[in-house]
Amino acid sequence: MRKYVIVGPQGSGKGTQSALLLRDLDLVHIGVGDIFRWHVKNHTKIGAQVRRTMAAGELVGDDLVERIVRERLDQHDWNFGFIIDGFPRNRRQTEFFLESYDIDGVIHLDLPDGEVRRRVLARRYCARCGMDYNLIDDRPTQEGRCDVCGGELVAREDDTEEAIAQRLRDYHQKTDPVLELFGRKEYVVTVDARPDIDTVQRTIREKLGLPMPR
Ligand code: AMP
Repeated sequence: MRKYVIVGPQGSGKGTQSALLLRDLDLVHIGVGDIFRWHVKNHTKIGAQVRRTMAAGELVGDDLVERIVRERLDQHDWNFGFIIDGFPRNRRQTEFFLESYDIDGVIHLDLPDGEVRRRVLARRYCARCGMDYNLIDDRPTQEGRCDVCGGELVAREDDTEEAIAQRLRDYHQKTDPVLELFGRKEYVVTVDARPDIDTVQRTIREKLGLPMPR
């Protein structure tokens, strides 16, 4: 059984690195933001409670988050373990998690703020079909045009210098205490997220004592 938390700023490759671990190790991905999005989409009572908070980009109250996490983990559909993403997001949630569950490690994808900015500012998507691009390593063949449908490539509205700076401030303010608390228990493995995808994956596995990718 392997139980991990993954932490990292936007653009650090959390999704990509989690997917590679899940595939090989049969782990279940638990995305707390995804669970809330599901509730909003399906108009549940919880959805009604969190819709406005989420739309404002604010954090949902700790009591509700803890209930959601507890209910999700109580399903015990994770025979080989899980990777939890988007939780814990502050000191209180970390204390709750440490008291309630045993974990095997916290994967901390470390990316300097300057590199987060560079990666996020390079993101584009097709205004017509929604295909994602990245001007650093996933460039379209013709500048500014989608390879699939020829639509115009644009940046997300909230991928501006100011919005990124604000998100980075929030991230550090909330996440640094989480890493500090987990660090006291020697759970945290910090991995440099700057190298290519395979190198980062190999470093994560090496540090957690996991088998290398097949
Ligand atoms: P995410 O997809 O992780 O960015 O989460 C989307 C939204 O869900 C956040 O903006 C919050 O409103 C809410 N959310 C997700 N995880 C948490 C958490 N651990 N604590 C509080 N709110 C959360």
